[in-house]
Amino acid sequence: MTTEITPEFIQGLPKAELHLHIEGTLEPELKLELAKRNKVDIGQSTIEEVRQAYQYDDLASFLAVYYPAMQVLQQEQDFYDLAFSYLRRAAENNVRHVEIFFDPQAHTSRDISFETVISGLHRAIVDARALNVDAELIMCFLRDFSKESARKTLLEAMPYKDWIIGVGLDSDEHNNPPLKFARQYEDAAAAGMHLTAHCDIDQKDSIDHIRQALEIMGVERIDHGTNIVEDPDLVDFVVNHQVGLTSCPLSNSFVRPQMKGEEILQLLSKGAKICINSDDPAYFGGYINDNYYALADQFNLTQQQVIQLARNSFEASWISDEKKALYLAEIDEYVAKH
Ligand SMILES: [Zn+2]
Repeated sequence: MTTEITPEFIQGLPKAELHLHIEGTLEPELKLELAKRNKVDIGQSTIEEVRQAYQYDDLASFLAVYYPAMQVLQQEQDFYDLAFSYLRRAAENNVRHVEIFFDPQAHTSRDISFETVISGLHRAIVDARALNVDAELIMCFLRDFSKESARKTLLEAMPYKDWIIGVGLDSDEHNNPPLKFARQYEDAAAAGMHLTAHCDIDQKDSIDHIRQALEIMGVERIDHGTNIVEDPDLVDFVVNHQVGLTSCPLSNSFVRPQMKGEEILQLLSKGAKICINSDDPAYFGGYINDNYYALADQFNLTQQQVIQLARNSFEASWISDEKKALYLAEIDEYVAKH
């Protein structure tokens, strides 16, 4: 098929989102509203001022803007509003299933209780069923915090483990390898949680980190991870073991103008379960459909390739085989109509 990909085609395509940080969906409008609600001085009072502060060109400069903004999140209702606003957007983007990252330590470290955070997020997920979006939570450890702090966080999570489908690893990767958290991953797996980890693009030890995550820690997905193309053996490994790779073209484009498009297509053609996601959409200029379209437009994707990316998003997800079959059938039905 060589039909040109339109935003309308992408809009209607059923898809899953597997790489989405809920804190990264905090839009300027909600940020200002919550600042007012909780009487937090964020140093900005208009949407333009908030947007002007969004200056970053690598992971470290992004995180320096990202974490301070979370000060406005204080009460259970704030976390509910944050998650529900995103889930409404997800429904508008025809996201049928989403596995949402949240960073408890970014909140508990400023004396917001774990319970406050997860109760608000969970309540929004329950309410979003009415929007026809099914959602799960993935708890991320902040890799630039100590493993002691990760251990404590996992203990705090245990009473809520039925609300948490898996654990992940995010924040500043520099000198913070996956292996630092090997024990916490073992404990999380023993508690029945799925495993994923960020291996951000073009890090100092990208290949080493990918290898640790895959071969030692047994992760089922890697978030980003496109540097894997530099190591054909590891590419074979993810293809053979059907390890998901969750790529985010628009956030990549803040660091690399080519948004790692060549790498994404190379992995797709080799049969890797790579999919497209929005990462921190309020900060990187677009939700999931914008990410699909940016990639399709810049790299002239065929309809077949776009459909495969959407199929991969369900296949790499942590839903039951029965649910996967239902969603894949929805894709087939949609494609048949086009
Ligand atoms: Zn991410």
